[in-house]
Amino acid sequence: MDLDQFLDQPQCGFFSGGEFISPISRQPIKLISPATGKFWKAIVPAYKDDVQCALQSAHLAFSDWKRLPAPQRGAYLRNIGALIQEYAEKFAWVMAMEMGKPVSQGISEARYTAGYFGWFAGEAERIYGQTIPSQFPDKRLSIHYEPIGVAAMITPWNFPLAMAGRKIAAALAAGCTAINKPAAETPMTMLLFAEICRLAQLPPGVVNILPGDAKTISQVLLDAPLVRKLSFTGSTAVGKLLFRQSADTLKKLTLELGGNAPLLVFDDADLKKAVQGTIESKFRNNGQTCVCPNRILVQAGIARAYIKALKEAVENLKCGDPFDPHVDLSPILHPSAQDKFDKHSADALQKGAHLESKSENGIVLSGIGKEMAVWSEETFGPLAPIATFNTEEEGIALANDTAFGLCAYFFTENLSRAARIAEALEAGIIGINDGVPSSYQASFGGIKSSGFGREGGPTGIKEYLNEKFISLKI
Ligand code: ADP
Repeated sequence: MDLDQFLDQPQCGFFSGGEFISPISRQPIKLISPATGKFWKAIVPAYKDDVQCALQSAHLAFSDWKRLPAPQRGAYLRNIGALIQEYAEKFAWVMAMEMGKPVSQGISEARYTAGYFGWFAGEAERIYGQTIPSQFPDKRLSIHYEPIGVAAMITPWNFPLAMAGRKIAAALAAGCTAINKPAAETPMTMLLFAEICRLAQLPPGVVNILPGDAKTISQVLLDAPLVRKLSFTGSTAVGKLLFRQSADTLKKLTLELGGNAPLLVFDDADLKKAVQGTIESKFRNNGQTCVCPNRILVQAGIARAYIKALKEAVENLKCGDPFDPHVDLSPILHPSAQDKFDKHSADALQKGAHLESKSENGIVLSGIGKEMAVWSEETFGPLAPIATFNTEEEGIALANDTAFGLCAYFFTENLSRAARIAEALEAGIIGINDGVPSSYQASFGGIKSSGFGREGGPTGIKEYLNEKFISLKI
């Protein structure tokens, strides 16, 4: 079956033990596309027993997969990455169907994900240990790294391929096997990924994709001692819940949770760069991104010029049919994001914010203050809320006035200031004159209520490894 035939099937089973499984009596979940408003696909959910079966498959596959020489694991990853690149347009089409993401952004997401597979293919071969001199002449000390075991991944709808893909790539490179529960809104993207794994002839059980009821599936995975690792991307509330539920089996965790990113524009910023960076970071994926700036803080001297330029740039974005390759924004927001967007806009306006611009592309508000919901809660929509500040110290204090710490951005042309501010901002990722800092070569992750653990980069693979110390007395 080629990929077109795969995608043309009216129904798709869950993926476990290297096969798509559709038990006859199972009631499928009907997916209605927010892009077309029509039914487009039925998905067979995994039940409790199916999760146990997948777990056994993943466990069985682990014993061979971890022994496969790293260059061979890397070769599988490279192949999967190349196939994701090759079929980037198919992934983009599925994402447009599932969540209304513009196809140009879906293609970028597929390429970004393929980058992780290429990166981790190399990382598989760079799992270096250490030898350490002992104070005893007859002892030889060494540290080894070993794959942790079966890894579970629970992932969100906003970047349905990238969020799961970068976890799976790291896990497989380390020698772990993977079970992913995709979000209810976007199961098909990851089932297409499963088909890619089949095309790459990945051994059965190494990757398993289980759509279905979030609570039921998570409970089985979290209760299972065989699952040694949980990597989660989603809201802080659910992350805390999963943290508690993992306590009994003491799983190693990576939690990539919400953000409330500040974006600072200093008087000495290059206005063009600042506006472009704001558009890229704030309006990508309709603002439904955990690294989105949620509070734009502008120094008084540049505020007027920046707001004018930002308004124009927002109004010039092209909003439209997500299947149109020239479209920047899609009119489709996730219902929960739409709700927050409406509530935050109304709350801010009612509390005295000034409406700078309103169009189908989004809203620009100035005069934002701490008493407004948008200050402390993630909006997850195309709302650009602006506050002004006077001194550098004031700007830093406002930026850090949040429980979150995923990403922070700032714009300045002054090198000394850049160094000072980068050190002062409390966040795991800093973009200096850069609206899209995230890249597979570097670590992604937060501090404070944004979670812990890192994905990608030189440390991402460690999340899936155990450290073993060996002392040899000769
Ligand atoms: P988002 O708002 O980004 O969807 P969520 O935290 O609600 O963030 O969801 C992220 C992922 O967590 C999704 O796969 C979702 O199905 C899953 N999820 C949501 N609630 C629970 C829960 N109570 N237990 C386990 N998984 C959950």
